[in-house]
Amino acid sequence: MEVHQTRPKTIRSRLGTLRRAAKRVATIAGIAIAAVLLLAYGMGAWGIRQTPVEHPAPPEFINDVTQLNPIPVAKIITPTTIDEIIEAVKSNPGPVSVGGGRYSMGGQTASLGGVQIDMRQFNRILAFDSVAKTITVQPGIRWRDIQRRIDSANLSIAVMQTYSNFTVGGSMSVNVHGRYIGLGPLALTIRSLKIVLADGTLIEASPTTNSEIFYGALGGYGGLGVIVEATLDLADNVRVKRHNARMPIGEYAGYFKQHVRDSTDVIFHNGDIYPPNYERVNAVTWTRTNDPVTVTDRLIPPDKSYRLDRAVYSIMADWPGGKGFREHVVDPLLFRNSPVEWRNYEASYDVAELEPTSREKSSYVLEEYFIPVEHFDDFVPKMRAVFKKHDVNVINVSIRHAKPDPGTLLSWAPRETFAFVVYYKQGTSAPERRKVGVWTREMTDSILSVGGAYYLPYQPWATEAQFLRAFPRAPEYFALKKRVDPTNKLRNTLWDKYYLPRVSPLQANADASIRERLDSAGTYARDEGQTFLTHPEWSIVFSSDEYAEWLHHHLPTDFPYAKSIAQFWIDYREAVSQTKNAYPFNSGYHVMLGVIGTSYSAELALKGAYENTIGRFSGWTAGHKLTEEDRYAADVASDYGKFIHIRPWYEYAFAAKLKGLWTTVPATGRAPVRKWERRCFLTLEYGIKSVYAGLITLGTHAAYAPEDDRMQMVVSGWTDAIAARHPNIKTVARIDSVFTVVAAPRYDEFRDAIRDLATSGDSVRISEVAGNHEIFLTGVAPRGWAYSGVGRDVFDVPLPTDSSRKRVSMRVPVGELLNVFRSLDAQRTSGLSIDHLYDY
Ligand SMILES: Cc1cc2nc3c(=O)[nH]c(=O)nc-3n(C[C@H](O)[C@H](O)[C@H](O)COP(=O)(O)OP(=O)(O)OC[C@H]3O[C@@H](n4cnc5c(N)ncnc54)[C@H](O)[C@@H]3O)c2cc1C
Repeated sequence: MEVHQTRPKTIRSRLGTLRRAAKRVATIAGIAIAAVLLLAYGMGAWGIRQTPVEHPAPPEFINDVTQLNPIPVAKIITPTTIDEIIEAVKSNPGPVSVGGGRYSMGGQTASLGGVQIDMRQFNRILAFDSVAKTITVQPGIRWRDIQRRIDSANLSIAVMQTYSNFTVGGSMSVNVHGRYIGLGPLALTIRSLKIVLADGTLIEASPTTNSEIFYGALGGYGGLGVIVEATLDLADNVRVKRHNARMPIGEYAGYFKQHVRDSTDVIFHNGDIYPPNYERVNAVTWTRTNDPVTVTDRLIPPDKSYRLDRAVYSIMADWPGGKGFREHVVDPLLFRNSPVEWRNYEASYDVAELEPTSREKSSYVLEEYFIPVEHFDDFVPKMRAVFKKHDVNVINVSIRHAKPDPGTLLSWAPRETFAFVVYYKQGTSAPERRKVGVWTREMTDSILSVGGAYYLPYQPWATEAQFLRAFPRAPEYFALKKRVDPTNKLRNTLWDKYYLPRVSPLQANADASIRERLDSAGTYARDEGQTFLTHPEWSIVFSSDEYAEWLHHHLPTDFPYAKSIAQFWIDYREAVSQTKNAYPFNSGYHVMLGVIGTSYSAELALKGAYENTIGRFSGWTAGHKLTEEDRYAADVASDYGKFIHIRPWYEYAFAAKLKGLWTTVPATGRAPVRKWERRCFLTLEYGIKSVYAGLITLGTHAAYAPEDDRMQMVVSGWTDAIAARHPNIKTVARIDSVFTVVAAPRYDEFRDAIRDLATSGDSVRISEVAGNHEIFLTGVAPRGWAYSGVGRDVFDVPLPTDSSRKRVSMRVPVGELLNVFRSLDAQRTSGLSIDHLYDY
């Protein structure tokens, strides 16, 4: 098989070479920008206007506190009444997701291309009974707002998390816990709730009425309906005094049993395990007291400054010896006395104290493991081993305790449980994220080996098999969901993964070792953001095609140079808009795009200036007719356009074309002024490009090795018979009876291979392409064409050379890629043709 020089190599080669030529380019860029401005002005004067752009609003992204999970959605609705929520659920076919505070860390509040019901404006207190000690609220309310209301009655929330920023609905749907002793899951303190089901029905549920819905919705992650009302138990707002004891971790379980578990005076307790050795614990207990408060504020002031806290977290995470600094310096200072506070004060922490200055290159993230109390000592060495093996940057592991759950279907504490809350720092790049997946799945195996479970509001790295072992009643939950939401309207990333997976069946079905093998194979995974970033570079390729087509019928004088320059920058701006806040910033690639964009603009600007002055004059002398030289230039442009679809531009035989100009095109004939002007111009153009390309080729060969020329993907339903019908797609490895890794050619041939697969009638499904779940594609269509179907039309731009046609750009879930190709192929008669599928 012929090994093609690949476009990424083109890109990298250009990058390397152009970096080395940075100074020269900067000078050219300056001249170019001036020329572009002059030209744009000049062409405006000649009646050529800037391309009008149809530009729908950029997609809305739902993200969470980690900034790791941007999910493009079609719409966000912010209801303030139950009727609006019922209408939103009824009128949208799905996916419909529910968002609270958006602190869950794995896309639990959104589904690709769906509608999110953002509950944060639905946040009123409906009833408060200080005698019965209950409160009824709309679930978009945050704990902090309830605290403000009930504090004056000297009451507290019975169970909530350590921080008070979360919404009641988000907390109920996760079935959270805090540091409370003698309690456990929030479900223990919920009296009743009201919920809007997928068909818009509003029902009430409690342990005795519609109890299945009650125990399914608590901890049900928005999969059964939208909780629109909740009645919660309250507790007394007592004064609490802090004590702490440091000990080896082997003594902790005994200490807890003896001093904490059965004490009715203990309100809060947690044990902080010190990384990086995980050998010692600081057990922190807050007991009821009659002592006067030493902290007089009743709630933590909302405007408190957290500069110092953030600095300490940063030291602990990043400085050499930072973790020891915490254990041996910070904590001894922090715990040198025993403050007395109000319970509400201790329950009103603000997550702002944890917020780093930036989450661009790294982020702080949580995981949590639930271990039956009797297996505490078995689990700790396993946890330590995984952290150490993978060098995880753990900042803290906080131990909590929970009594058994009252019966929720997705219970994380079916029996008495210790929770290990892990706060760690991770990188945001794709390889660093995959690494987290690898160690998390390994940790999950350790958890399962001692009969434990893990927490679902965090990144959903576990395989489906692991999920089902950790949550053995999940099939009951799924059966209930099927009954109350038969069309699977209520979705989010969690349920897209574990319930009727639609994006990536591989993730859901494959076991951990397969996922690990794929993720750690250097040849498989590519960065998803590249699907958008490669688009501007292809825009130059398309422009070359258009230029070639133009030259066959027109003089180059009238080519829309300014529009073509604008096209590149519009495509670049869109690539930025699609990747901004969604993927880690790829500075190298942006520099490269900036450099090639500037040099491309300079070339077109200079050409435009020349063609509209001297070229215009010589064309006039030829009666605006094409000469042999013009035709030769058109043929070369076509040949060049085809060439750069598959090979780097600098490998093109400019010198041979120059020779051809002088040896094959007759030097005499009609319109001598035009002929000789063209000869001089083309000699200059081919000559300069030949020398420049030669220099780049030299530098490139010295610095870069060829890259992979195949794109791997995971497909299901791949049989030997199907493989024989698609010889351009090679079988790489059979994963199991369902999934196979196959390799397709890249670039134009990738598009063709996918189209063949889609239209062949073979029942194959793509699960992932290079580890990714979204892909970008463009096509050319008549101006009035509109796409309706899976995937999203992101933006359309009229073609510079023909405003009756436009280039349409779409982002498509890879799981739906074949369906999209089928559907687009069926629309070919309407004039649509797919020109490129951007394979990262
Ligand atoms: C810094 C930090 C500390 C944390 N500490 C703890 C802790 O101490 N204990 C603990 O248990 N957890 C803890 N968590 C996890 C946290 O409790 C959950 O992520 C919780 O879901 C956050 O609430 P939220 O309002 O942000 O919910 P969101 O993240 O917005 O939503 C969570 C889930 O609830 C669903 N949902 C939200 N509202 C509704 C509704 N009205 N009806 C139906 N479904 C709904 C969403 O669809 C989603 O699936 C912590 C998280 C962070 C970031």
